[in-house]
Amino acid sequence: RKVAVVVGTRPEVIKMAPVVFALRESKELEPVLLSTGQHREMLDQALAAFDLKPDFDLGLMQPGQTLPGLTARAIEAVTKFIDEQKPDAILVQGDTSTVLAAAMAAFFADVPVGHIEAGLRTGNMRSPFPEEMNRRLTSPLAKWHFCPTDGSKDNLVREAIAECDCYVTGNTVVDSLLWIRDKQESAGVDAADVAKRLGISNDFAQKYFNLKSAISTDEVSDFVLVTGHRRESFGGGFERMCEAINDLTKRHPGVGVLYPVHLNPKVQEPVNRILGDNPAVELCSPAGYEDFVWLMNQAKFILSDSGGVQEEAPSLGKPVLVMRETTERPEGVEAGTCRLVGTDPDKILSEAAVLLDDADEYARRSALKNPYGDGTAARKIVATLEASLGKVES
Ligand code: UDP
Repeated sequence: RKVAVVVGTRPEVIKMAPVVFALRESKELEPVLLSTGQHREMLDQALAAFDLKPDFDLGLMQPGQTLPGLTARAIEAVTKFIDEQKPDAILVQGDTSTVLAAAMAAFFADVPVGHIEAGLRTGNMRSPFPEEMNRRLTSPLAKWHFCPTDGSKDNLVREAIAECDCYVTGNTVVDSLLWIRDKQESAGVDAADVAKRLGISNDFAQKYFNLKSAISTDEVSDFVLVTGHRRESFGGGFERMCEAINDLTKRHPGVGVLYPVHLNPKVQEPVNRILGDNPAVELCSPAGYEDFVWLMNQAKFILSDSGGVQEEAPSLGKPVLVMRETTERPEGVEAGTCRLVGTDPDKILSEAAVLLDDADEYARRSALKNPYGDGTAARKIVATLEASLGKVES
C-alpha cells in the first residue's frame, strides 16, 4: 500500500523525514515522497540532511508567488499526482499552503488524509496568517489526526473532530532531532568544519565555538542563537527584534550572537541593515539541519519566532525566548523552557538578562522535560496507519 508523504518547505521535510524512515521499515506500507517545491533552497538543504530525494517533485515555486496562486496550482498538481500514482493514503504535516492544498486534492479524490502535527491553535483565526487558517481548514478534511500533545487533541475535540480519530503521538521533530544528535554524539562534530560550512568568521569561531585550536573549553564564551522568519513580524516587528539584539550585545559585552538569516528578502533587508555592522553579531546563511542542531546544542539560549525550535530546544536543555505575542505551542511555555517575549526590546533584554546572569534560574529551565515527545512519534503514526489501512481492506 502506497502512502504519499507530502512536503513543501524546510520544516515539513525535517518533520516528515522520520515518518518516511518508519514507513520504509513497514512490511505493509511503502512511502512515496512528493515535494510541491513550495520553497526551494531551504527545502533541498533539509532533504540533504536526511539523504532524502523526492520521488516526485512538482516544482511549484515561482518568483513573486502569491498564496492563492500557489494554493491553486498545488491543488491541481497534487490532483494530477493522485490520478497517476493512486496512493492509498496521503500524509501532510503542519500548516503551510502545501498542506491545505494537498488535503483538498486528496479530499476531492476520496483518498484518506493523515494530518501530522494536528490541533495546534492560537485561538485567533487570522494569526498567524495564513497558518492558523490552513491548519483549521485541514482538520475537517483529514481522517487521522496525529496530535503532538493532549492539548492539541483537546483543541480538535472542541471543534467536533471525533476523539477516536485523534492520536497523541508527540511531535516527529523530536524524532529527527534525537536521531541527528545521537549521530553527532557517536561520530563527533568538528567545530571548525561547521564554521567553514556556515562561512563564520575566524574571530567569531575562535571566541564562541569549541574549536580544536581553542586552548580549553573554559575559553569559549557564550553565544546566543537567533532565528526569525514570521510574516506577522515583517516590518516594525523585525526592526525591533534587531534593535533588541544590538542592545543585548551592548549590555552584555563578551556575549556573541549568531544569526542564520532566513532567505526571505523581507527578513534579509532589516537584518542586514540593522545588524550588519555590529561586530558581536555574526550573520550567516540558513544552516543545514545537522549544523543547526549542533548550533542549538552549543548556544547558551535561543531567541526565535520559529515553531520547530520551540519544540526542539527543550530536548537539548536550551531555553527559548519566543519573539512573538502568541504561540500555538503553549506546552513549552507552561513547562517553563520557552518564554513569550514578543518584539518589545525591553522585554527581550530583561528576559535575556535573567538567562545570562542568573545561573540557578538558567539551570532550572535547562533541566525541564520536553513536552513535545520522546522520539517515538513516527513509529506510532505508522503503526496507526498499518492498523487502519489493514482494516479498510478486510
Ligand atoms: N532550522 C534549520 N536551519 C536554520 C534554522 C532553522 O535547519 O538555519 C530548522 C530548525 O531546527 C527547525 C526548522 O528548521 O527544525 C524550523 O523551521 P522554520 O523556523 O523555518 O519554520 P517553523 O518551525 O516556524 O514552521
